[in-house]
Amino acid sequence: AKHEGKRRLGRIDPSRPESRFARQALIRRRLPHALSSAAFSLHYQPLMDIPTGDCPAVEALLRWHDPELGAVSPTEFIHVAEHTGMIHALGQWVIDQACAQARLWADAGTPRAISVNISPLQLAAGNLATVIHRSLQRHGVPPSLLNVEITESAAIVDLSSAAAQLRTLIGAGIGVALDDYGTAYSSLSLLRELPLTGLKLDKSFIDTIDTDPTSAVLVANVMASARALGLRTTAEGVERETQLAVLRELRCDTAQGYLIARPLPPAELALLSRRPVP
Ligand code: C2E
Ligand code: MG
Ligand code: MG
Ligand code: MG
Repeated sequence: AKHEGKRRLGRIDPSRPESRFARQALIRRRLPHALSSAAFSLHYQPLMDIPTGDCPAVEALLRWHDPELGAVSPTEFIHVAEHTGMIHALGQWVIDQACAQARLWADAGTPRAISVNISPLQLAAGNLATVIHRSLQRHGVPPSLLNVEITESAAIVDLSSAAAQLRTLIGAGIGVALDDYGTAYSSLSLLRELPLTGLKLDKSFIDTIDTDPTSAVLVANVMASARALGLRTTAEGVERETQLAVLRELRCDTAQGYLIARPLPPAELALLSRRPVP
């Protein structure tokens, strides 16, 4: 039945559990060759300053296009790269590519700060600050044009080592945001223990702020705590005007989501002006 299904569809149907397994096996087989075959690229999603509507910064999001698999989502392959250890080389490639792009934008007279996602394992390796410093130097990019996003699990592996590295980055002028806040291991105490400059509220938190008063209250409280701690707040996954209106009311600093723009290749992003979105 499996082979018939495949033949009929002509390709792997990810909704079938057995083909999902086949796809994961293929991802594991093909991922090791992807870095040398230039199959990765970065897309950039604007981060909109809510008070001004300006987009002075973007988040870099990794894309993998494989000739056999097609587009593979980072949610499908990052954990594989972490498992095989490839995440270190891949993570360095992302940092270097982001620095190269930051330089191009600065040279073009449209400087944009770039936020890069950092895997827990990159933070655990202990050389993150060095890797970032070298990349910035290589491309002649000021630290103010680079930010990092870490996930809560990243910090939990070894809190004191993570804190020391983050302190080094912040001291050098690099912003550090805690990503996906509001998912699994969220705790307010983590905000006290980790050196941070920003907090990104996960899409799952933002999804119902315009329809469910309870979630609006929860978000309002997180915003107030973050503000009291001097952290800049970003709302992820903003898809509707009505959500943006609530966020504005809650004095959230930054909005990110399809309402503003999807993640775009640099050439398409360049076509968007830095003028406020209507
Ligand atoms: P993230 O860092 O939380 O990134 C935000 C994700 O939300 C991105 O998914 C983005 O495309 C998506 N998104 C943004 N706005 C909206 C919206 O309005 N609606 C919806 N439905 N989605 C929206 P993406 O690009 O698939 O990345 C998924 C995750 O993969 C990222 O979540 C991040 O954790 C990880 N990732 C991506 N690039 C890298 C990377 O270079 N290194 C590492 N370690 N992880 C990465
Ligand atoms: Mg992120
Ligand atoms: Mg996020
Ligand atoms: Mg998220």
